[in-house]
Amino acid sequence: MLKEFELIKKISLSESCPHAYLFTGATGVGKFETAIKFAKFLNCENQSEFSDDCDCDQCKMINKNIHPDVYIVEKQESKKEIVDSQIIDKDKKEGIIYKINNNPLSGKYNIVIIRGADSMNKTVSNTILKNLEEPKTDTIFILTTANKKNILETIISRCCVIDFNLLNRDEVTKLTNNEDIDLICDLSSYKYKRVLELNDKEVLDRYINDIKEFCNVIKSSDTDKILYIGKVLEDKAKLWYYVYIWELVFNFYISQKHNEFLGNIIIENIGEVMKSVYSLKEAITGNYILEIKLNNFLLSIKVK
Ligand SMILES: [Zn+2]
Repeated sequence: MLKEFELIKKISLSESCPHAYLFTGATGVGKFETAIKFAKFLNCENQSEFSDDCDCDQCKMINKNIHPDVYIVEKQESKKEIVDSQIIDKDKKEGIIYKINNNPLSGKYNIVIIRGADSMNKTVSNTILKNLEEPKTDTIFILTTANKKNILETIISRCCVIDFNLLNRDEVTKLTNNEDIDLICDLSSYKYKRVLELNDKEVLDRYINDIKEFCNVIKSSDTDKILYIGKVLEDKAKLWYYVYIWELVFNFYISQKHNEFLGNIIIENIGEVMKSVYSLKEAITGNYILEIKLNNFLLSIKVK
């Protein structure tokens, strides 16, 4: 995200400063964090000397998520989509979409950040589109997504699209507090969020312990394997983390890195194993898959 931020900064300072941005790229590459950082930059009182730890009032309010002109919209946990009521309150003529009609209360810009913009429902998409078609000079939209193809073409065409890539080794080196750069590169898969996470010694130790444990489990009896899965399922929220750990182990095996974990074992069906990991990831997305399965089932019933 470091090089992406520099690029965005440059674009925003150009004469044709866009009023809408779309940050795209895989989960964990730092799109949302950059959106927040960019919001700070746009409203910062010391813009020319802007840095991450600026403590002007504008930056401070954004850090605390209490800035009156910065609106963050994202899918609520219980919902499948970003829904109308999150941006429009028709009865009271309130909601973000009405508020941005007014001048900013404190900063230079009203800033609307839509995190996971691919989950906007139809009304929200159309409302945002309408606002992008009639831009206001003091309002900036920042949309982030890992699924660009699920966003209306008409929205994309009105945004300055910034593709976020994985970090490179130099960037990891700048962000990590660990001297073992190889280990951090491999454990983080060059993802911004994971590099920062691994700066916490406790988290790093947990990663390493869980990798070691899984390597032992692979080599252990069926009973131990079943017990292990039982443990993993105790906290479903951590399932993604475990699948990531397993993926790391298999990647290490394929690339013959970090032999200290796996030792000299041979995984005969590694190709199939990797495929299973990918399908596991799909299965975790859960209801979605279940829903498709049920639909297919119902459609397959032939009634005369
Ligand atoms: Zn500032």
